[in-house]
Amino acid sequence: MNEFEIIARYFTRPTDDRDVLLGVGDDAAVLGTTGPIAVAVDTLVAGVHFPDGTGPDSIAHRALAVNLSDLAAMGARPRWFTLALTLPDADPAWLEAFAAGLFALADRYGVSLVGGDLTRGPLTVSIQVIGTMSGMGAGAIALTRGGGRVGDDVYVTGTLGDAAAGLAVLTGRYGEDAATGAAREALAARFLRPEPRVGAGLALVGVATAAIDVSDGLAADLGHLCDASGCGAEIDVENLPLSAEIEAVCPIDAAESHAIAGGDDYELCFTAPPSEADRVAAAIEQGGIGARRIGRLVEGRNVAWRRAGKAFTPPDRGYVHFR
Ligand code: ADP
Ligand code: MG
Repeated sequence: MNEFEIIARYFTRPTDDRDVLLGVGDDAAVLGTTGPIAVAVDTLVAGVHFPDGTGPDSIAHRALAVNLSDLAAMGARPRWFTLALTLPDADPAWLEAFAAGLFALADRYGVSLVGGDLTRGPLTVSIQVIGTMSGMGAGAIALTRGGGRVGDDVYVTGTLGDAAAGLAVLTGRYGEDAATGAAREALAARFLRPEPRVGAGLALVGVATAAIDVSDGLAADLGHLCDASGCGAEIDVENLPLSAEIEAVCPIDAAESHAIAGGDDYELCFTAPPSEADRVAAAIEQGGIGARRIGRLVEGRNVAWRRAGKAFTPPDRGYVHFR
């Protein structure tokens, strides 16, 4: 199979999206849209972002999901994506599974693959997503990292730490234990197949003051939200949402440390004034995933953690490349 046969066979599919004026096959895709668009790109490198030997369907799911998560954090509606794929070789079974994982997620969120690139080299997957944005009054972007204000409540969707615990499971850290087999599998799935909180992001437009998706760990990403908002935060560690699975597999201090610093959650961390608590609850109901209040924004620049009423120093910071 040469490059063009691979593109035609695995990555060219009809779309019923009439805004795709030109998709895969020409020198560039042409998209018809009016209004602001949100654009994000993320690259996954084998051995860095996922363990070697990860299934191709999971790699594809994850590569698209992390990008959809970025759009979710902006309250954007994902519409289109491009795929730059670097492969060591063209294995039809691998490509088949990769495409299946990719389009299963793409179809669920109604996003169309409109172009890409294919090269030979160490396995690397780069996806760029494009989404449309509404709810922008007077040119103001509704949902950024920078809109938080002192006194706002801090919330997080879903549960934290599962993916980090799942990666630890996949790399053998929590051993084999028949009693927690199903829980360990569920945690691994949270790492391999993160679910982007697209519905929650859309529902929070006009309700949340700021949002970020938790990719590098709550400590790191809440830190970014605080920096952009010019605030500090106080977080109650007891309030961090932990799943039954992480509690079954991990000792409590490990579960908390995964939740604080583990990363790869792809939950949304967002803020809203206490007076908007009812609207937050309604938006969250509509967004299809639960959310919990974990603390509040305060004066200063620091994220302070409290546990049992006392100051608590979290174990580690989030994942940083080029440390
Ligand atoms: P060019 O050389 O003009 O950049 P390419 O030969 O790289 O074009 O690609 C041919 C067409 O196939 C383009 O429309 C491109 O967007 C598309 N394409 C290439 N690789 C992929 C891929 N992995 N997935 C989807 N579309 C792809
Ligand atoms: Mg060209």
